[in-house]
Amino acid sequence: QYEKLGTSLLELFDHIKAGGNMLVLCPPEPDTYLKLVSDKMGIRDVGATRYRVEGLRFKSGFMIGGKDRDIEVSDPFDSALSVTLEEGAAVHIVSADDKEMPLLWEYAYGDGKVVFYNLNFFEKVYRGFYCAAYSLLSDVCVWPVINGSAFYIDDFPSPVPAGEGEFIQRDYHMDIKTFYTNVWWPDIEELWKKHGIRYTGLVIEDYSDENQAPFEGNDDLQRFRYFGNKLLDDGGEIGFHGYNHMPLVPEDFDYKNQFDTYRQWKSREDMRLSIEELNRFCTWLFPKEKFQVYVPPSNILSEEGRQILVEDFPQIRAIASIYFPGEFEYSQDFMVSEDGMIETPRIISGYIIGSYMETGAISELNFHYVNSHFQHPDDVLDTDRGAQEGWEKLKNRLTEYTDWLYESAPDIRNLTGSEMAGAVQRYYYLEPRITRQENEIHISLSNFSDEAWLFTRINEGLLESVEGGTAVETADGLYLLKAESSELVLKLTEQTGGD
Ligand SMILES: [Zn+2]
Repeated sequence: QYEKLGTSLLELFDHIKAGGNMLVLCPPEPDTYLKLVSDKMGIRDVGATRYRVEGLRFKSGFMIGGKDRDIEVSDPFDSALSVTLEEGAAVHIVSADDKEMPLLWEYAYGDGKVVFYNLNFFEKVYRGFYCAAYSLLSDVCVWPVINGSAFYIDDFPSPVPAGEGEFIQRDYHMDIKTFYTNVWWPDIEELWKKHGIRYTGLVIEDYSDENQAPFEGNDDLQRFRYFGNKLLDDGGEIGFHGYNHMPLVPEDFDYKNQFDTYRQWKSREDMRLSIEELNRFCTWLFPKEKFQVYVPPSNILSEEGRQILVEDFPQIRAIASIYFPGEFEYSQDFMVSEDGMIETPRIISGYIIGSYMETGAISELNFHYVNSHFQHPDDVLDTDRGAQEGWEKLKNRLTEYTDWLYESAPDIRNLTGSEMAGAVQRYYYLEPRITRQENEIHISLSNFSDEAWLFTRINEGLLESVEGGTAVETADGLYLLKAESSELVLKLTEQTGGD
C-alpha cells in the first residue's frame, strides 16, 4: 500500500533517479499513489483487477535453465497486477498464456534502476527467483554458491523392498528381485555413464519393526554386497539410513495418528544401539568405507535422534533430509549447524518430477547452483509415486530431468553425499567483500581454504579477464566463478551498442 508511504514515496523515487536501485518484491495495491509513480517503474497502465497466473514463461536467458521454458504454477490465484509496460522496460518473465502478463521486468529511471516483481508467490520454492531478481539491481552482484549435484538412493542397498510387484509383472513378467538386478539398476547406472552422476546409497539393514535392543540383525549379505560394490565401483558412496525404517523418535513423539505402521523407540539407548548395529553391519560389508552421511527414514528425525548422531557417531558429518518444510519432516537449509553437523537437504525426489519440483530445481540452480535429488527403488512399486505408469515412463521422466539439468548447468560438479557436505561447508563459511575501482572488481574472500565458487552477475560492462580464478558464463550475464585464491580481480570492458 504505497499510500502509507505518503510523500516519502516521492523522496524514494528521487533517490532512485539519482542512482539508487529498488526491488519491488511484491505487487502493490493499485491505488492512486502507485499510479503517481508507476511511470517511473516502467508501467504505462495498471488495471483495477488482479491477474491469475497459471504458469511462468521466461522471455530472457537471465536465469539458468529457464530459457524457452514454461513452468506451471502449482496453486494459482489472482496474484499479479494487470499491467501494460513502457517501451523501455526489459521483461524477463511473463505469464505462460496468450496474454503474456509481465511478471518481472527492469526499468532504468534516471541514473538508477527499478526491478519489479509482479509475481506474489513467497514460498521457499521461489527463493532463487527472488535471488536472480535482486542480482539485476546493481552493476555487479557477487554471492557464494555450492556448485554441486547429488543423487541419493534411499533404501539402497536394502532387503528387497516389500510391496506388490503388480506393474513389474505386467510389464516385465519377472519378480521384484530379478527386476531390480536386471532392469532397474542397469537403467539407473546408465545415468551415471551418461552424466557422471555419483550416487549415494543409504542402507537399511532390515525392514523389521523392532524398537528395542537386542536387534536380530540381517545375515543375508549377498544382495548388499552386490549392489553396494556396484555403487562404489561407479564412484558412489554409502551412507546410513537406518537399522530398520523406524524414524529416530522417542515414545512421546507425536505422529498425530498419521503413521500407523511406525513404532517408536523405547529409549534413547535403543535408538543409539540401532545405529550402532547398522554401523557394525555396514563396516562388516564395506570395511574400507567411511559412513559420513545420514538420511533420516521418512525424512523424520527428532531432537533426541539428532543429538545421538552428533554425540555418539562423530563419523557422521552430514544429515541429508529435505529442503522444503512439511508437517513432520526434518527440513533444512544448506548450512553448518552450531554443533558442527552439516545440513545437506535434498530438494526434489522420485521419478515423477512435477511442476512444483521443476520450480524448485530451477530456483536452487539459480540460488545455490545446486541439484539434490533422491529416489527409492520401491518408487516403482508405489502407486502414489507413479508405479502404474510403468518403469519405462518413470525412467524417461527422470532422464528428461537429468538431460535438462546437465544441459542447463554443464559445469555443475557431480558430488557424493560427503563431497556435498564438504562443498556446503566451504560455501557456508565463505564471506566475499566486493570493491569496485573503475573497470576492476576486487573480490576478497574471508575463510577461503582451497577453492571457492561464486556467482557473479554483471549488469554493466563485459567480463574481459579474471585474476585469481576462472569464469564461465552460465546464463546471460551470470558467471560461475571459480576462486583459486582469496583475492580475485575481474576486469571489465565497456559494453558497446548496449545501454
Ligand atoms: Zn527410506
